[in-house]
Amino acid sequence: ASVFAAVQMAPRDPILGLNEQFNADPNPAKVNLGVGVYFDDNGKLPVLACVAAAEKQLLEASKPKGYLPIDGIAAYDKAVQGLVFGAGSEVLQAGRVATVQALGGTGGLKVGADLLKKLNPAARVLISDPSWENHRALFTNAGFEVSTYPYYDAATRGIRFDAMLAALKAAPAGTIVVLHACCHNPTGCDLTPAQWTEVVAACQAAGLVPFLDMAYQGFGEGIAEDGAVIGQFVASGLQFLVSTSFSKSFSLYGERVGALSVVCADRDETTRVLSQLKIVIRTNYSNPPTFGAQLVATVLTTPALRAQWEEELAGMRLRIRAMRAALVEKLAAAGVPGDLSYITRQKGMFSYSGLSAEQMQRLRSEFGVYGVDSGRICVAALNSKNIDAVAKAIAQVS
Ligand code: PMP
Repeated sequence: ASVFAAVQMAPRDPILGLNEQFNADPNPAKVNLGVGVYFDDNGKLPVLACVAAAEKQLLEASKPKGYLPIDGIAAYDKAVQGLVFGAGSEVLQAGRVATVQALGGTGGLKVGADLLKKLNPAARVLISDPSWENHRALFTNAGFEVSTYPYYDAATRGIRFDAMLAALKAAPAGTIVVLHACCHNPTGCDLTPAQWTEVVAACQAAGLVPFLDMAYQGFGEGIAEDGAVIGQFVASGLQFLVSTSFSKSFSLYGERVGALSVVCADRDETTRVLSQLKIVIRTNYSNPPTFGAQLVATVLTTPALRAQWEEELAGMRLRIRAMRAALVEKLAAAGVPGDLSYITRQKGMFSYSGLSAEQMQRLRSEFGVYGVDSGRICVAALNSKNIDAVAKAIAQVS
């Protein structure tokens, strides 16, 4: 018999499956609100002008393609640190942060998970209920037992904050708690700064290991505003991890540009942690790819390009906000009753619409509007051409 005869068919990724279904749909008016990707008002994946400029520079220089260091491009890692912790911040000056380039935000999470597994194999992982689909799978595959802490409250379309806090306080010391730094995926519901203060205190009191997933810095309120939560964790004196993704904020999805930062107690500990991160990377894929991180490092360290990036990122953020406001208006005009302000309160690319799986299926089959069965729609895929049809379709199934 074949070595692989007993291999079972794995379930399809639900969102990629949705994409295949979308591509096969002959409906000319179809709209894809499933995948978590930012599209411009023409429904196109943007190429940021700052990225195009950096790309031109790099192509003209036509650099040799040697191996990178295991932890990636030094200038890139430094630029990531500046963005996440604030350039020149005390924690960076004290040499307390180990940062490595990673294969997207997913890669940052996996390198961090592998490090944590070596340190404390019996630790449990808590993710939000609900969370990005891959959190559970990724930490489970890294060998952890994964459970959830309460998060979304369908009744109020808000956060079950008291229950969340109670769950964190009750978790055994050493528990790894995965937190969405901003723009919670899939709900769009973020904690307030005051709530974050309580979460930080709970993590501290219970001796938890916070792992902040920052996949959307700049898509919520702004680069600094979205990063402020990191400052709160630093101020607490806790050790913690942060994964960074530039997939969305630079529209560099396929280049796989991300990072992992580990905040340690002191410089010596940081050096030791970095050496272990390098082992994790070395034994998985040896060293990261060059191109995407070069683009990001070039943009972040060239003042004119950096300013351009901040402007373009603000443009994406504001376009999403405008789509949220327009959706509220158009849903109300189409006769959807009730308070729709939750749509504009939500942050980032996603909205939990509150629609049932059955309603989401009707949206697909009757109107060619594709969202996730959980009711999650990608607001960043709405545009001035498709929003009327989407609002009408939602009104029809509501
Ligand atoms: N974390 C969250 C919450 C995400 O939504 C995503 C992207 N969908 C990621 C991590 C992974 O990002 P990347 O594509 O850079 O691996």
